[in-house]
Amino acid sequence: MAEGSGDGATDRGCSPLLVSACLLGVRCNHEGGASPSAAVQALSSHFRLVPVCPETAGGLPTPRPAAEVQSDGSVRTVVGEDVSDAYSRGAAHTVRLARSVGAVGAVLKARSPSCGCHEIYDGSFTRVRVRGSGVTAAALRTAGVPVCSEEDVSAEGEPWLGAAGGAEAVDDEQRPE
Ligand code: SF4
Repeated sequence: MAEGSGDGATDRGCSPLLVSACLLGVRCNHEGGASPSAAVQALSSHFRLVPVCPETAGGLPTPRPAAEVQSDGSVRTVVGEDVSDAYSRGAAHTVRLARSVGAVGAVLKARSPSCGCHEIYDGSFTRVRVRGSGVTAAALRTAGVPVCSEEDVSAEGEPWLGAAGGAEAVDDEQRPE
């Protein structure tokens, strides 16, 4: 699926919604796998889903070493390489894409160092979670684009977003339990 383009199944002339590409089945995560979500894919009934993978858009290969956001805000791989610039490029690309398509929001993969929007890992590569955002999720929020994770999307589709075409801001205070 070409990033930023709709296809016959998803391009219905509805409001555009950015989605982490791995949630749509694109094998773009650091291990070369995907995290397909049926609930997220069902949003295509209400929105034009626009896939994006910030890490590959930032120039990183697939597969690639695991990386986590560090306490100083940098992003480093498990072997200590500073990949902050690639993450920043991917975030900037995603914000440009959101603006260019007029995205009403974004559904992003939970806990990713790019896409996580409620929690991320703490930088120690020990699977310890902390409250925080990935680089792209934070950039989208700063740009005024509402973000949520696939875990906020119910099996029924989109009660968290309200009526299709009218996304409401979803943040840690407003997210469904
Ligand atoms: Fe998925 Fe986002 Fe990671 Fe790309 S950067 S693999 S879209 S979680």
